[in-house]
Amino acid sequence: MTRLFVDKRIEHGATTHILDDSDSRYIRDVLRMRSGERLILCDPDSTEYEAIVTSPGSKHIELTLSPGRANQTEPLYRAVLYQGLPKGDKMSGIIQKSVELGVSGIVPVSCARSIVKIDPGDLREKTTRWQKISHEAARQSERGRVPWVSETMSFREAIETATKQSDLTLIPWEEESGKSLAEALEPLDNKRRCQNPNPDDDIGPDLSDPERSLPNISRREGPLVSIFIGPEGGFEKKEVAFAKECGAVSVSLGKRILRTETAGIAVLSMLLYRLELL
Ligand code: SAM
Repeated sequence: MTRLFVDKRIEHGATTHILDDSDSRYIRDVLRMRSGERLILCDPDSTEYEAIVTSPGSKHIELTLSPGRANQTEPLYRAVLYQGLPKGDKMSGIIQKSVELGVSGIVPVSCARSIVKIDPGDLREKTTRWQKISHEAARQSERGRVPWVSETMSFREAIETATKQSDLTLIPWEEESGKSLAEALEPLDNKRRCQNPNPDDDIGPDLSDPERSLPNISRREGPLVSIFIGPEGGFEKKEVAFAKECGAVSVSLGKRILRTETAGIAVLSMLLYRLELL
């Protein structure tokens, strides 16, 4: 059944809902739904309503709602993937698979070895397209909400943001031989703040913009795990060192080298297994 994610919270107990312009156009002109047809309406609070189309011809389509119920498909933890900007259009596939695996948000990160340098105009356009891919994947995988895709961050800004917000920040690094992912997931309480990182470290431009923050991830939805994946060339040693200084945990994903488009999916799959299926 079609899933429609609406931006506005739906009043508790509401029995009807009027769609805005773009959602009305989608139902009327794209899906050509007729009166009496049903869909699932998902509000930002992950409450779902079975809805019946009652006025398909009007500019703002009206729906009749059944009582709301809590969405059952969202994970009991939050995972944010900080993905080193990859070459070509790999990001689209990474976003699609990550949404299916339960990611809550994706942050493209410009790392020292990110080969692709996209100009700001292009980046905004790409971010809009990436958000659409997330929306489509959320619909297909019957998510309760649409994972967000933020604007691109520098490595420094990303690490500082993640380690401040997360219960656990992981930086998988193929040169790490000590800690495995399984060990790192045990405490889920590894949270430390940046200890005055040395400002002279060349960790890339400091783009931190106090105005810009990531969408709030509410604590009531379980622990927040942030995952850093390097681009094709991997992370530089000083990036890993800075991440650890800020409280991130570097982990091995095993003896084989995974592609940048494989590594994040692998970690999210292991989180799914460990935190949802065990
Ligand atoms: N530097 C290597 C290279 O150029 O082939 C590997 C980079 S790998 C393609 C991209 C990212 O995937 C790495 O930065 C790391 O985050 C992750 N990764 C891949 N294999 C890994 C492993 N065995 N252990 C930990 N992280 C891994």
